Amino acid sequence: MRYSVTSVRAREILDSRGNPTIEVEIVTEGNVLGSAAIPSGASTGMYEAVELRDGGKRFGGKGVAKAVDIVTNTIQPKIKGMDVRRQNEIDAKLIELDGTENKSKLGGNAILGVSIACARAAAASDGLRLYEYIDRKASLLPVPFFNVINGGKHAGNQLDFQEFMIAPIGARSFREAIQIGAEVYQALKTQLQKTYGKSSINVGDEGGFAPPLRKPEEALDIIYKAIQNAGYMAEVKIGLDVASSTFYKNGAYTVTETEYTTDEIIDYYRELVAAYPIISIEDPLQEEDYEGFAEATRVLPTQVVGDDLFVTNPKRLAKGIEMGACNALLWKVNQIGTLTEALEAASLAMKNKYGVMASHRSGDTEDPWVADLSVGIGCGQIKSGAPARGERTAKYNQLLRIEEWLGSNARYPKGSLRLR
Ligand code: PGA
Ligand code: ZN
Repeated sequence: MRYSVTSVRAREILDSRGNPTIEVEIVTEGNVLGSAAIPSGASTGMYEAVELRDGGKRFGGKGVAKAVDIVTNTIQPKIKGMDVRRQNEIDAKLIELDGTENKSKLGGNAILGVSIACARAAAASDGLRLYEYIDRKASLLPVPFFNVINGGKHAGNQLDFQEFMIAPIGARSFREAIQIGAEVYQALKTQLQKTYGKSSINVGDEGGFAPPLRKPEEALDIIYKAIQNAGYMAEVKIGLDVASSTFYKNGAYTVTETEYTTDEIIDYYRELVAAYPIISIEDPLQEEDYEGFAEATRVLPTQVVGDDLFVTNPKRLAKGIEMGACNALLWKVNQIGTLTEALEAASLAMKNKYGVMASHRSGDTEDPWVADLSVGIGCGQIKSGAPARGERTAKYNQLLRIEEWLGSNARYPKGSLRLR
């Protein structure tokens, strides 16, 4: 049968930070190839699926030779002969074979490589593109949230907040959103150089600038100025990924050398939202504080996105929905480790009127599968770093292609994020 798996191989390649990561290739009896390269986070949530890494001396312990070996010698014999279109069965088999809650035996990286490569092989077997294979009627492009200033664990500067993003929510098409994002990015570069000198235009892990700033307000001010200079005040809003677990310790959040309690930091976000055109805040509180998230969601007029809190895990999301924590899910497929479970998390969110923002990882590759998936699930939002650097533009460029392929069916979610 032409859809049956005949071989599953893997190799160790490099991600955008120069660390090893896994790439999986599946071939079917019909001689169709499906491949997938797996990204890797830096500010990872403690409840994420575990990445299997070798330890030892090679690559400073970050090698993935064990994961490669597991794909070839443990996974391959079990899924050989299975139908690549049966994603649920293949993913269930992978979960069963692993047998742990957090995929620590086979590794979330090995498992997801196989899971996505299967979907790719299935799509190609039927002559479909990946986004079409996920949903034949897919037509909604996402609003891109471009990360233009990097801080936290993604940059060598003093900014405590991790990501300052611009969202061209008033664009008329994805293509126009790309143009606007790129123009603001260049305007920001000019403004940074003028204000803070040449060293301020160095970039961080996600291609955003990493200027030597301290206060979130300084980053917001200069972004605001860049939006103004580029002439897009009507079209562009601002999004933040605070990634607050990275500066939370012993019950306090430390921002710009000032300690905040939970209530105080929520008040601080309210002030920022009042002063700047912020429409989305991710991880405003630490990854275990469901109640704090619920309070933030009640009082902030913005989208509140759960990343480290939910880790794309349907169980953790279900608890959040019950408690009113967040009104949107950050959707990172490698946090949970199979396509099936990630799709389940996305549909649970949508059913409960939560927004869904598809996401790359800070360590990523040239593989753009998340771009296809974002259109496939029709979530209407994506973040894939700055409109610069190959592994970031790989996703945005794929979305440009998809918009063109969709032709007059393509839709762009002008002016609205899905909010609870
Ligand atoms: P990560 O960062 O990929 O390093 O986890 C992205 C994010 O926190 O959203
Ligand atoms: Zn995040």
